[in-house]
Amino acid sequence: MTDLKKYKMFIDGEWVESDTKKTFETLNPENNKPWATVPEASANDVDRAVKAAQKAFEGEWSRLLPRERGNYLRAISNKLRENAELLGKIETIDTGKLFRETNKQANYIAEYYDYYAGLADKVEGTVLPIDKPNIQAITTRIPIGVIAAIIPWNSQMLLTVTKLAPALAMGNTVVIKSSELAPAVMFEFAKLIEETEIPKGVVNVITGFGDPCGKALTTHNLVEKVAFTGGPETARHIIRNSAENLSEVSLELGGKSPVAVFDDAHQENAINGITAGIFGASGQSCIAGSRLYLQDGIYNEFLDKLSARAEKIKIGAPMDPESEMGPLSNFKQLEIIEKNIKLTVDQGGKIKCGGKRHSFSNEGYYFSPTIIECDNHNLPVAENELFGPVLSVMRFKTEDEVIKKMNDNQYGLSSGVYTSDFSRGLRVSKAIRAGITFVNTYRLISPSAPFGGIKDSGFGKEAGVESIKDYTRVKTTWYYTSDKPTLDPFSMR
Ligand code: NAD
Repeated sequence: MTDLKKYKMFIDGEWVESDTKKTFETLNPENNKPWATVPEASANDVDRAVKAAQKAFEGEWSRLLPRERGNYLRAISNKLRENAELLGKIETIDTGKLFRETNKQANYIAEYYDYYAGLADKVEGTVLPIDKPNIQAITTRIPIGVIAAIIPWNSQMLLTVTKLAPALAMGNTVVIKSSELAPAVMFEFAKLIEETEIPKGVVNVITGFGDPCGKALTTHNLVEKVAFTGGPETARHIIRNSAENLSEVSLELGGKSPVAVFDDAHQENAINGITAGIFGASGQSCIAGSRLYLQDGIYNEFLDKLSARAEKIKIGAPMDPESEMGPLSNFKQLEIIEKNIKLTVDQGGKIKCGGKRHSFSNEGYYFSPTIIECDNHNLPVAENELFGPVLSVMRFKTEDEVIKKMNDNQYGLSSGVYTSDFSRGLRVSKAIRAGITFVNTYRLISPSAPFGGIKDSGFGKEAGVESIKDYTRVKTTWYYTSDKPTLDPFSMR
């Protein structure tokens, strides 16, 4: 026990324990052994963090020149590049995600900070064509105040930057609540934040459970906006909580993203894209392409080739650069996946490959790449978000039919289409009710590409130029320009 790494929370520029002294252990999914302890934030800790953020907001931060805030974002991006290897390693130890991805991502996320650093001094107001004499009216974009950023356990660095960078650029201050699962990388990140010498309290990093930590944060009366990424059930709590403090809410939730392959698709390209979409990060991705619709003419041939590719995936230790899939992040994931597969097989689903734990290790929850043929997409694996390496495959005949099927799910986050017919690619992408459609590719992100869903996948977009405005409010200022006194104080003009 004594050799466990010990993390502290970062509140008001100080490294602190919880006021209750409570801590909890975080596990390494490679062997499910604890490797670090983190403080469990109490409601008092949350209060301390929010008040620090409020003080920093009212202090110099919101009054700095936009360019100066941009410079701090550039300093964060430089720190990320210098420390990408360390951040990648810690995220890998804590989540089981492959180091070949976490290391690369830590570097790439630096680009997001640069992107918003560049935008910090480019958000403009307007002069209104006002309908009154002797009046000049303008709008400006002002910061909102204290932002609560609630982060899930997967892709934490990415899901943090899409909230933190635009929020800071616009003059807000932030309390980041990392997930209780795999929180370590957020504290390593907080160390880099400290090194930038950003004013105290501008960025605070805490962790804890939904209750009391998440609840206290999202109901706090000084929190003005909650930027949430996580599951739909938690999102319902967040919305209820926002009734307490009347905060604005943005929600990035789950998905059950459909992918269609037409008879004329370039098959090798489609197989690569589908493999990336569902087996990349062991399927623990919100945009995982987990519902696959194959057109009749290629169904058997394509499915055989895809299964052969899936069976070749190299399962291995997450730090091994040769590994293509590592362990599931936690036991809850394994339980959900196994339960849904069992129910589906009981109802007639046919396992084409995988379907069970992989023999690579008995210690970590390694799960084989799994493909299941389903007669209809209402079978549990085809309908529910599993957040794992499980692909459900269904058959279709016509374009209209597949569009209806792709849209027949509660979620609307991502989607994919593979076809050599450019017009059809455009038609289908337009008809799919999802926030993102990939045509002849999959699993791409960029600071300039808005990310987010519709339907039960939430609302509000992250990344891209427009999302920076989501961290501002419009303010209208009226100027009276005449030297004469105003007339009639008792009538609104
Ligand atoms: P989760 O909803 O269980 O937890 C997300 C965060 O909410 C955690 O920090 C958790 O502690 C916190 N939380 C829990 N209860 C709370 C409460 N009552 N009040 C406030 N906060 C509370 O999600 P998870 O299991 O960590 O992550 C997986 C989910 O996230 C999946 O559904 C996945 O699709 C989704 N996700 C979405 C995106 C996206 O960008 N759309 C990206 C990644 C993950």
